[in-house]
Amino acid sequence: MAAEGKTLKVSCPGCARQAEYSPDNPWRPFCSARCKNIDLGAWASEQYRIAGAPADPIDMGDTGGPADPSRSGTH
Ligand SMILES: [Zn+2]
Repeated sequence: MAAEGKTLKVSCPGCARQAEYSPDNPWRPFCSARCKNIDLGAWASEQYRIAGAPADPIDMGDTGGPADPSRSGTH
């Protein structure tokens, strides 16, 4: 009558394979450390890409007008 042996399985976000979602699987919901690392790496890359993207290239310099005198000396 016990529910033992009933293992919850989920699709690994990394490779879409069936991964055990249980305390026995430290990588859950991934199937392995490899998939977990891949996912984290992709996530980190995404973050870096967003953070490193130039928000406003115009702000880099020449705007066609004189520099704001109040901003000089703040460099
Ligand atoms: Zn996987």
